[in-house]
Amino acid sequence: MIKIGVTGGIGSGKSTLCDIFAADKGIAVYNSDKSAQRLMGGELREALVGEFGSSVFVDGMLNRSYLAEVVFGDADALKRLNAIVHPAVRADFQRWSESQHGEYVIVESAILFDAEFDKYVDYTLVVLAPKELRLERACKRDGVEKQAIEQRMDAQMSDEELHSRANYSIVNIFEEDLAPSVVKLDMLFRKLANK
Ligand code: ADP
Repeated sequence: MIKIGVTGGIGSGKSTLCDIFAADKGIAVYNSDKSAQRLMGGELREALVGEFGSSVFVDGMLNRSYLAEVVFGDADALKRLNAIVHPAVRADFQRWSESQHGEYVIVESAILFDAEFDKYVDYTLVVLAPKELRLERACKRDGVEKQAIEQRMDAQMSDEELHSRANYSIVNIFEEDLAPSVVKLDMLFRKLANK
């Protein structure tokens, strides 16, 4: 079984694409962001309190906004947070993939390269889309102002960099092109798995 890492900037459509792989092709998809949230509220609890104090949890729930505030603009704090979370997510993904079946599995991550997840997969695919379109989609999806999305975009790798780092890329503009793209990519990944 091979592992495919899917990444892309906010609003590029990586979740949408991964959903189609799961629905149309029955491919198992690991969502690293959701897993990170789950692990932070579970096995990483002690490590987070040890590093950032007990205010990280309120009524037993992870205080995400407090944690975001602590690491925002503090490169060292962010590094310490990532040092706790990233290896745990990678290990959790390894465990998860061992229990999966099929020719390939997908791991979806907005920070595939930043979190060095790319070293733990066989091939990488980046989902690309024009910035304005990504902005429009993400604002609509999250019901927030442009500025909030732009701030998140500024913290992410550019499409140019993602494109130069990834093995494969797909441009996601028209909805009707997505399912046919998945058909082609699925054939490609199966071929790579049987190489
Ligand atoms: P990401 O996971 O990369 O942040 P999503 O997959 O959540 O992006 O897509 C962002 C929003 O744009 C979602 O509401 C999704 O339904 C929509 N979307 C994604 N791709 C398309 C497309 N090709 N055409 C129209 N809407 C799209």
